[in-house]
Amino acid sequence: MKKELVNNKVTIIGAGLVGSTTAFALMAGGTVSEIAMIDLDKKRLAGEVMDLNHGISFVPPVNIYEGSYEDCADSNIVIVTAGVGQRPGETRIDLLKRNIEVFKQIVPRIVENNKECIILVVTNPVDILTYATLKISGLPDNQVIGSGTVLDSARLKYLLSANCNIASQNVDAYIIGEHGDTELPAWSLTNIAGTPIENFCQFCRGNCRPEHKERIFEEAKNSAYKIIEGKGATYYAVALAVRRIVEAILRNDNSILPVSSIMKGYYGVEDVCLSLPSIVNDKGIERVLELPLSDKEIELFRHSANTLKESLREIGF
Ligand code: NAD
Repeated sequence: MKKELVNNKVTIIGAGLVGSTTAFALMAGGTVSEIAMIDLDKKRLAGEVMDLNHGISFVPPVNIYEGSYEDCADSNIVIVTAGVGQRPGETRIDLLKRNIEVFKQIVPRIVENNKECIILVVTNPVDILTYATLKISGLPDNQVIGSGTVLDSARLKYLLSANCNIASQNVDAYIIGEHGDTELPAWSLTNIAGTPIENFCQFCRGNCRPEHKERIFEEAKNSAYKIIEGKGATYYAVALAVRRIVEAILRNDNSILPVSSIMKGYYGVEDVCLSLPSIVNDKGIERVLELPLSDKEIELFRHSANTLKESLREIGF
């Protein structure tokens, strides 16, 4: 039998909480053989790389080191988690403008080293920065992906499964649109054990009212705020969401994931990056699926797109 060897490299730009936890998730999962990490903060970078390396004897072989932009050259995927935080009193748009400046420094340096890699954007606001990355890089549309609503959908799956007292793996649910305030649950695509969510209630024995699912969605949508209130940042679940996307790319497995990519007329929406269930493989985005949504869902999806387009206009894109 053919033995599958893992010989894959990723470069992670931004070794903060999300970047370092992503490296940890990739290393713990044996997902890659090489992780180069880049950060402006050299002291923090050295500390994170050292800490990660001290766990190496407990995981499958992996090489983790302080890298440079030249490492992008032989990386299959470049993951961008670098960003600046909000200053006291700073508006959302001013913060966004500063993060666009960060991306104007980073993205050209990735592309001058590698035009074949897939760039996976995680920094927020992820949809706007995915769009900016696509425009700045000039890479083909399929090679620029945002982590999108993969995390949000996982939160919804978890909360639905906890509500119905079943395993999260048995819930198929998608949050689509913006990763943020205008995101929406695609209830039309949500099922448990192949049964549409509405019909599952009779088997659940939870005796909840049908509208209870809207409250569950609101909880999923607002959970980042709650986590940040509790511990200052979110990083474990997003790191696992990023690992799931990396696996889909490296294993070329055609996974369907709600990642962010450029819209090309889906539900009448174009020229903005948003999340829809998409086939992900070694090409990056193989295809975005325009699955049957209800009229209300389509309306909310278009509203999400218009809100993001407004932000793009405000920052001059
Ligand atoms: P952090 O402040 O801990 O890390 C950011 C790192 O970026 C810092 O180490 C900083 O030195 C580095 N950096 C800044 N500018 C740089 C540059 N030009 N080149 C290289 N490195 C640079 O922040 P964090 O908690 O790791 O969060 C990172 C980003 O991820 C934030 O934008 C956050 O909102 C986002 N995030 C996204 C999701 C998602 O689902 N998409 C979830 C959680 C967090």
